[in-house]
Amino acid sequence: MRPANGRIDGEALLARLPEVRGRLVAEAPLSGLTWFRVGGPAEVLFTPADEDDLAAFLAALPGEVPVTVIGVGSNLLVRDGGVPGVVIRLGRGFSAISVEEGYRVRAGTAVPDVKVARAALDNGIAGLTFLRGIPGTIGGALRMNGGAYGRETKDVLIGARAVDRQGRQVSLALEDMHYSYRHCGAPDDLIFTEALFQGEPGDSDRIAEAMREITEAREQSQPVRSRTGGSTFKNPPGEKAWQLIDAAGMRGFAVGAARVSEKHCNFLINEGGATAADIEALGEEIRRRVRETSGIALDWEIRRIGVPAGETARETA
Ligand SMILES: Cc1cc2nc3c(=O)[nH]c(=O)nc-3n(C[C@H](O)[C@H](O)[C@H](O)COP(=O)(O)OP(=O)(O)OC[C@H]3O[C@@H](n4cnc5c(N)ncnc54)[C@H](O)[C@@H]3O)c2cc1C
Repeated sequence: MRPANGRIDGEALLARLPEVRGRLVAEAPLSGLTWFRVGGPAEVLFTPADEDDLAAFLAALPGEVPVTVIGVGSNLLVRDGGVPGVVIRLGRGFSAISVEEGYRVRAGTAVPDVKVARAALDNGIAGLTFLRGIPGTIGGALRMNGGAYGRETKDVLIGARAVDRQGRQVSLALEDMHYSYRHCGAPDDLIFTEALFQGEPGDSDRIAEAMREITEAREQSQPVRSRTGGSTFKNPPGEKAWQLIDAAGMRGFAVGAARVSEKHCNFLINEGGATAADIEALGEEIRRRVRETSGIALDWEIRRIGVPAGETARETA
């Protein structure tokens, strides 16, 4: 059945998909699965039961069907026309966490970063505290090389497991991730399923204090309770994106109900009722004005997925 919006055809796609042990849902709304709370549906949303289920699905999936993986959507703008193809969201089958010999933490990629920080704290492991401040999953941290307070994922990662578009289950060492600032050079089709982190011996009271400080600093400097996607743009070499945006006079600037945060002007806020198009247009206007005032081209840190309202999946797939 063709949906009323005429853009994606989840039921038709569903009929072509391999059987799974997990869950497949046609035209599943994605807005509630992202921090911005905007955007259209996934043509089909797949929640695999476990890594084998994910691998078997990808191996049998027709090659022309696009695949997009999401975490908890804290760095994501889903466009209003939805996401063609299959969107994969990892759930319970990827949420194991364990502490191993030698101050190591192993975590499935659906585990929230904060849980890894807490497991480290509970076991007197230092070095993973920075994950307390990043509101995503381990999958998102691996793909984004998430970082804060002078540490990044690349500083603590030993290796990861992943499944590629052909359904092959692969192991990656840190070098295979080809990390740089907020960038992972591992192939784009990889869906990470597990990570192993290296911590160091630490004092639990000190780690707890550091985590408390991070929580307080976040509350003070970022709109952490708003509908936002975190830092919108990467910091250009030697510059701070927020300072460039401020200098361009964009603090508080709005497009529709999308506004540049007064608190931290590299954050965009959905004040309620914004569309993904409003947020993206606001971001592009910031880029234009920053280029005009400083000559610097800002790069999006937020990942934008899907198609604008009015475009069909078939036109863009
Ligand atoms: C209030 C706020 C504060 C933030 N502060 C920070 C910060 O201090 N430091 C920082 O680095 N980021 C920060 N962010 C951004 C965001 O939290 C991180 O980028 C985070 O790592 C994204 O994780 P996620 O699970 O939400 O991924 P999503 O936003 O859902 O996806 C982000 C990207 O990761 C990919 N991805 C997700 N899971 C997987 C997987 N299993 N395999 C392969 N690819 C995957 C997606 O395809 C997408 O390209 C902040 C965001 C907010 C809202």
